Amino acid sequence: MKCRHCQAAVTLQFIDLETSPPSNSYVTAAALRGPEKWYPLRVYTCTNCWLVQTEDYAHFSEMFSSDYAYFSSFSTSWLKHADEYVSAMAQRFELGAQSHVIEVASNDGYLLQYVKQRGIPCLGVEPTASTAAAAREKGIEVLEEFFGVALADRLVAQSRSADLTAANNVLAHVPDINDFVAGFARVLKADGVSTFEFPHLMRLVEQCQFDTIYHEHFSYLSLTAVDTIFARNGLQVFDVQELPTHGGSLRVFAQRADTGRRERTAALAALLERESGAGVASAGYYAGFQERANTIKDELMSFLIQAKRDGKRVGAYGAAAKGNTLLNYAGVRSNLLPWVVDRNPAKQDKYLPGCRIPIVDEAHLKQTRPDYVVILPWNLRTEVTAQLSYIRDWGGKFVTAVPHLEIS
Ligand SMILES: [Zn+2]
Repeated sequence: MKCRHCQAAVTLQFIDLETSPPSNSYVTAAALRGPEKWYPLRVYTCTNCWLVQTEDYAHFSEMFSSDYAYFSSFSTSWLKHADEYVSAMAQRFELGAQSHVIEVASNDGYLLQYVKQRGIPCLGVEPTASTAAAAREKGIEVLEEFFGVALADRLVAQSRSADLTAANNVLAHVPDINDFVAGFARVLKADGVSTFEFPHLMRLVEQCQFDTIYHEHFSYLSLTAVDTIFARNGLQVFDVQELPTHGGSLRVFAQRADTGRRERTAALAALLERESGAGVASAGYYAGFQERANTIKDELMSFLIQAKRDGKRVGAYGAAAKGNTLLNYAGVRSNLLPWVVDRNPAKQDKYLPGCRIPIVDEAHLKQTRPDYVVILPWNLRTEVTAQLSYIRDWGGKFVTAVPHLEIS
């Protein structure tokens, strides 16, 4: 396999999660009688540019035919995050009625609604029809396509260059990272700024967040790798912030390498130094991850088996991609975990891919009164624990599996 960024031969294996179906291919009741396609799920590290990446698969395109879409506005904490981002950016970069903001992967308009509220002209780019439609209902203009150099050049030709571009939780999901990043270098005005948020590889390694690995997630990014990839595609990173979102993310600030005038900040230098000190650019840093993931899956299985022997009722919360990786890798089936609650009506009455655990609405939780609720999206533990605090009324407890089994 060749590195998606630098084309060097990639041979250093980071983790082998064996096989699983695409994480968002939820199964309908009718489809239960048919088979599912399981694909290998292996991640490698490029020892030339240190981009950590999933292996390429045969029949790659057919993996993404799912009609399911994630709607960002279902998470209240994420909405707050977006509102605060817009407020901070508008102030720092003095955005107003003369500015233009473009968001790539604008989803259902969860972020651009706050841009619009402040009277700043904006445009969304979102290839998923259902979420794009939801954004339009908020009065936001959306281009229903994939972002890259071709679209960027068209926008520039239409005098629609950007003062600010936002791209949250999409950089890691694009197969052609070079074309994607180069598009931002083209679409920015001379002094424009691009920000990107993505889960930080250091947190993934530190906390063994192996369940954030799935097929649609092509890259696992360190600041070191991003700095290199951006520089080779016409963007210069000039600042970085560490965020608590998605188990620990980075917000990277970049400008055009040819015209950007901002100084690289001390925070950027400090984080590059920390990564260097941790050994991000050395093969040893990536060793032992598999064994740690195996311990987590064993602990989860032991807990579920013991709970069953003890006659406890167990259910799960959050039919998210993370849960699918964890449950399929661990080999959990509905005999140990009979249901998972999700607030999104589009997922209810379907089944998790692979393990085929039924997805139910929250009323089911109240009727069943489980002793344990396993929160699959552990990054939302605080939010979910508050939202479901009523399970304490019957002595229910919350469980998370990553970075280690925790019951409270
Ligand atoms: Zn590489």
